[in-house]
Amino acid sequence: MGAKNYRTTNVGVFGHPIDENPTVVLQEAGFRELGLNYRYLNFDIKQGELENALNAIKVLGFRGINLTIPHKVDIIPFLDSISDAAKKIEAVNTVVIEGGKLFGENTDGKGFIQSITTDAGCSPRGAHAVILGAGGAARAIAVELILAGASQLTIVNRSKNRGQALVELLKRNCGFDSEFKIWDNTYKPPDCDFLVNATSINLYPDASKPDIHYEAIAPGTIVCDVIPNPPQTGFLTEAKKRGAVTLDGLGMLVYQGAIGFKLWTGLDAPVDVMRKALQEEFS
Ligand code: NDP
Repeated sequence: MGAKNYRTTNVGVFGHPIDENPTVVLQEAGFRELGLNYRYLNFDIKQGELENALNAIKVLGFRGINLTIPHKVDIIPFLDSISDAAKKIEAVNTVVIEGGKLFGENTDGKGFIQSITTDAGCSPRGAHAVILGAGGAARAIAVELILAGASQLTIVNRSKNRGQALVELLKRNCGFDSEFKIWDNTYKPPDCDFLVNATSINLYPDASKPDIHYEAIAPGTIVCDVIPNPPQTGFLTEAKKRGAVTLDGLGMLVYQGAIGFKLWTGLDAPVDVMRKALQEEFS
C-alpha cells in the first residue's frame, strides 16, 4: 500500500458578506461521497482586495474559486481566458486554475437550464420566458435561455435603469431583442412557457413574495424561483395552487455547483447526495 497523501486540494469562494454562503455544504458533501481529498473554504474578501486574494490562492496552489457579491464582474480583468457564455453574461462565478492560469465560467444560468431540462424534462427551445428581476441571476438566466434557443424574453424589473440595461446587454452580446416591462404595481404575467423569479425577494429571513397577479398563471406553466432558502417560497406555493409545474432555487444551486465540481475535479458530481446535504442544512 502506498503512503497516504495528507495534502488537500483547495477550492472555495470569495465574497463579502460570505459567512452565510452555503455552497460549502454541497461541495464538501460531494467531495466526501467520492472520497476526494478536497476542501471548500469561505473567504471574506472585500471589494478592492480581489487581486491580492487571487495572488494568494495562486501561490497556495488552489484548484479554483467561486466568486459572489461583489466580485463577479470585477474578476474579469484578472482572467487569462473566459467561456463564451460568461463573456456574454459579463460575469464569472467560477474560476479554474490550471498551470497558474485563470479560466472563468458562469455556472448560474447553466444550473438553471439543467434544473428545467433534468427536473422538469422540458426544453427552452422556442419558448417564451418571463423573468422577474434584472440583477446578476436574471442576466445569467436570460443569456443561457437565449443560448438554449428561447424565442421570446420579457424582463420585468422594479428599477427602469437595470431592466433596460439587461435588455441592452442581451442585444449587444447575443443579438437578441427582448422586451422590458416596468414592475411598478401588481404585475400581471402574460401567458408564457416559463415564469422565473430572479429577484432576491423571499431569501431567508425575508418572508415576502413577489407582488404579481398569481391568478394569471396558466396551469402547466413552468414556474421557477432562484431562491434556494427556503426552497418552498411563497412564489412557488402560489404558482402551485394555479396548477403550475414548479422548480425551486435549491435545485438550481445544486446544479450550478455540480458544474463547478466537474470543472475542478473532472468528475461527475453526485448531485443527489449534494442536494440531500443542502436540504438537511436548510431544514
Ligand atoms: P442582484 O442584487 O443583482 O439583483 C436583485 C434583483 O432583485 C434586482 O432586479 C432587484 O430590482 C430585484 N428586487 C430586490 N428586491 C425587490 C423587491 N422588493 N421588489 C422588486 N424587485 C426586487 O442580486 P442577484 O441577481 O445576484 O441575486 C438575486 C437572488 O438570486 C439572490 O437571492 C440570490 O441568492 C439568488 N441566486 C440564486 C442562485 C441559485 O443557484 N439558486 C444563483 C445566483 C443567485 P432592482 O433592480 O429594482 O433593485
